[in-house]
Amino acid sequence: MLKAYPEGPPSSEGWGPNLGAALRTYASGPGIPEASKEFYAHMADNGHHKVIIIGSGPAGLTAALYSARANLSPLVIEGFDAGGQLMLTSDVENYPGFPDGVIGPDLMALFRKQAERFGATFVTDDASGVDFSERPFKVQVRKDAFTAEAVIVATGAKAKMLGLESEHRLLGRGVSTCATCDGAFFKNQELLVVGGGDSALEEALFLQRFASKLAVIHRRDQLRASKIMQDRAMASDKISFVWNSTVDEVLGNQKVEGARLRNLQTGELTDISAGGMFVAIGHTPNTSLFRGHLELDPAGYIVAGKNLSVDWNPASPYETRTSVEGVFAAGDVVDHTYRQAITASGTGCMASIDAERWLESKGH
Ligand SMILES: Cc1cc2nc3c(=O)[nH]c(=O)nc-3n(C[C@H](O)[C@H](O)[C@H](O)COP(=O)(O)OP(=O)(O)OC[C@H]3O[C@@H](n4cnc5c(N)ncnc54)[C@H](O)[C@@H]3O)c2cc1C
Repeated sequence: MLKAYPEGPPSSEGWGPNLGAALRTYASGPGIPEASKEFYAHMADNGHHKVIIIGSGPAGLTAALYSARANLSPLVIEGFDAGGQLMLTSDVENYPGFPDGVIGPDLMALFRKQAERFGATFVTDDASGVDFSERPFKVQVRKDAFTAEAVIVATGAKAKMLGLESEHRLLGRGVSTCATCDGAFFKNQELLVVGGGDSALEEALFLQRFASKLAVIHRRDQLRASKIMQDRAMASDKISFVWNSTVDEVLGNQKVEGARLRNLQTGELTDISAGGMFVAIGHTPNTSLFRGHLELDPAGYIVAGKNLSVDWNPASPYETRTSVEGVFAAGDVVDHTYRQAITASGTGCMASIDAERWLESKGH
């Protein structure tokens, strides 16, 4: 395996837009050990890219497709969980173009194949570090380092889970984290929603159009949700509340049949029957890598576009711009509202077009 910067990175001063050529000149200069020449040749040929995309869910792979078709030869650091969240699901019935639905991993394989067809290349590992303090930007993957003139961050988010073995086993078999995605699979069934914030009540209010009845399980005796959401949920004759309770176990072997609830005040266990359980206790954006490098909001999402508190160019047309000029962000890592494959794809497309136009404005 090639070592990244065995002698420490050469200064980027004066490298200009064509880092590849500069690296080749540097490597052929005096005093560079043979082993390092190999590394710099690799960097010159493979290590430097116009665009690096971090993440390979719908946002990252759409950005890769558009960047590849714009002749930017993007490198996709696709991550250990390549393909993203849709790899965790079977039927996707709301991605346009598939009237009979499509299996999540099949859809992501098609996304990847399409980006590859136009020249996107892939590194199947997580990015382990970034340096956005100067251009070219650096992205570290273990001991390998890659550089780019522009970076698109599309590292997505993870739904918070209760952490139960039974919940993990029945994920996609009645346990879900997305009512918009899966609600229609539960017509006329009894459902459970776990959580007490706005998103839990949003899920409950959406699900009531399918459910025969629905119980919201909350560990406190009061909801955290806004008053308006509470009023709406309380007014529904389908929605009931189980207070001061958590789920001890999801019941069922092949699919969800109910849940064992624990009353946190009395310790009493009660079984409740249900055909599905929606866990709505929040999401964690995958942004630990970018802390201190990009502006994040209090929940850890990347702040982009007109929401930036310190904007390097408020007049900029680049809606996916982050706090660092030349770094763009797309998909669930930015979005705490919609969280759908199609919206992630849409912003992936926007980020690629933004990156391409920004590169052009810089003479690349
Ligand atoms: C079980 C389930 C079912 C769903 N069903 C549907 C549905 O039916 N319809 C729908 O529209 N939406 C559905 N969704 C939501 C949809 O999957 C997401 O909105 C969408 O995947 C977000 O895309 P994304 O590209 O922003 O991020 P993600 O899909 O989360 O992808 C993030 C990518 O970033 C990579 N990554 C993370 N950290 C790093 C790192 N350090 N270095 C490199 N790469 C990194 C990961 O490996 C992954 O490839 C579902 C979600 C889940 C969990």
